[in-house]
Amino acid sequence: MSQSRRDFIKFVIAGSVASGCPIDRALIPIPADADSRAVSLEGEHFAICHQVRDGHSFPKPGASRKVDIAIIGGGIAGLSAAYFLRGKDWLLLEKEEHFGGNAYQEEFQGQPYSTAAAYDFRNSACDHLAKEIGLHLLPIDMPDPTIDKGVYTPDTWRGGLSQLPYSKDTIASFKKFTEDMMKIDLRKQMFELDSKPFTDLLGAYAPEVTRWWDAYGPSNWGAFTEDTTAFIGAVDAQYLIKGDDSTRVILPGGLGCVTKKLVEVLQPKYGERLLGGATVVSVVPDADSVRITYVHEDKPITVSAKVALMCTPKFITARIVSALPNEQKQAMRRMRYAPVPMINIIFDKQIYRKGYDNWCPGNSFTDFIVADWTIRNQPGYHPKYEILTFYSTLRESQRALLLEEEDCRTFAGKVLSDFQNLLPEFHVDPIEIRLYRRGHAMMMAVPGQFTQNRMIASRPTDRIFFGNSDSGGPESLSTEAVRISHAAAEWAELVLAGKPGPAAELAHKALTDFVF
Ligand SMILES: Cc1cc2nc3c(=O)[nH]c(=O)nc-3n(C[C@H](O)[C@H](O)[C@H](O)COP(=O)(O)OP(=O)(O)OC[C@H]3O[C@@H](n4cnc5c(N)ncnc54)[C@H](O)[C@@H]3O)c2cc1C
Repeated sequence: MSQSRRDFIKFVIAGSVASGCPIDRALIPIPADADSRAVSLEGEHFAICHQVRDGHSFPKPGASRKVDIAIIGGGIAGLSAAYFLRGKDWLLLEKEEHFGGNAYQEEFQGQPYSTAAAYDFRNSACDHLAKEIGLHLLPIDMPDPTIDKGVYTPDTWRGGLSQLPYSKDTIASFKKFTEDMMKIDLRKQMFELDSKPFTDLLGAYAPEVTRWWDAYGPSNWGAFTEDTTAFIGAVDAQYLIKGDDSTRVILPGGLGCVTKKLVEVLQPKYGERLLGGATVVSVVPDADSVRITYVHEDKPITVSAKVALMCTPKFITARIVSALPNEQKQAMRRMRYAPVPMINIIFDKQIYRKGYDNWCPGNSFTDFIVADWTIRNQPGYHPKYEILTFYSTLRESQRALLLEEEDCRTFAGKVLSDFQNLLPEFHVDPIEIRLYRRGHAMMMAVPGQFTQNRMIASRPTDRIFFGNSDSGGPESLSTEAVRISHAAAEWAELVLAGKPGPAAELAHKALTDFVF
């Protein structure tokens, strides 16, 4: 590829830090006069949330509006709660101008791609909801390959095990790992497994086994093996070894397709109740109402609700809800969230159609997916661009990297060069790279979170339900957000009907109803 062709690659960074980020000059030289390659910015905003974190006190005016139900947070949890409460008196407040949270899609020239959540599972709560609103999620229909040491290995955990590019002993160790994992009784050993790190199980096998899970884990549950609960490690090992990944379904754009459709369905009738650009700074319960103050167009506004559904992640909820029991507040604060820069690399021609979700251990990214995989073979479908979505969860200690323009530039450049070095056919330059920053994107599945901490953090009070996918588990899943929101909607109706006992019972059942 010629130098002049490479000059036309554009780099776009999205996120709350107001700074641009041209691509690493060492990788893709950009001439000084290249105005056409100006950087555009957009994305998650947390300036006001940071003021809340830093103890800034916002004025709390008297309530100017009364509603039965306030829904705080417009990710898939908040939107699905609003959907389940159609026809009721609710108001949804979302800090971003757009809805969707971690299930949010963007487009390049009309082709959708995901900025986080990738796929769902057939017959899950989310799949049922998708069907109900008119979306038919399509099967991925292919187990995941691994690309390592210049070799593509299909069906990593079953047919591909013997073909992995490792020594005989290492392959034997992979096989022994699969045999041992299948002997685990997940239900019986749940509490024991959830009390220790995954590394306690992995120590008995070749380092390459841990190396593989150090790609898969951060991408799926935000944690490297030493921070991962052995329970989720064993759950997902069995899931892959049994081939349960064959139930995966999605459309282009990842799970952003569901939130986009929810907004389309709700907007015409309930548009006035869906408020974007509204950052909630305080939630104060009292005897017969909850006062919610939010900042909208730089003005603090207070709404009074009979009940509130907190669909924000707990690290935010803990800071904005007053009068939480200390034990519950501490449990919320104990929860950990991984920083994730999401990188979409756009090519003007097809370069890769071999696998949907491709695991690449030992690189700056963990895996990459093909955005339009499930529709790629549909008759008459001839996409102009190829969009590959790269997952690149960072360690918590690297969070600050996302704040610095220079660091983002270096990091994105590394992702591109690591990708280009995977296989010879990847030595192709993209036309555009997009990076979406989220500082606390994914709840980390750490020991104790699922069986213990979650139960305390998510316990409802008389008037406040604590939803969001981080009330479910064992990992952060959109379908858990939907399942919990279904319970939240029923809980709200029971509380409004003056039935606190059945409401509390229902909430408890939702927390203890495990998905597997
Ligand atoms: C990189 C990545 C990959 C993933 N892949 C998958 C996958 O393949 N499959 C899957 O099922 N799940 C996946 N997940 C998890 C999935 O995205 C989440 O479980 C789900 O989107 C969470 O939805 P939610 O509504 O519970 O929370 P969020 O999406 O976190 O929504 C919370 C909302 O609250 C808003 N908010 C925050 N603070 C305030 C405030 N003060 N006032 C008002 N609004 C506020 C936020 O802006 C946000 O819109 C992935 C997550 C990440 C990060």
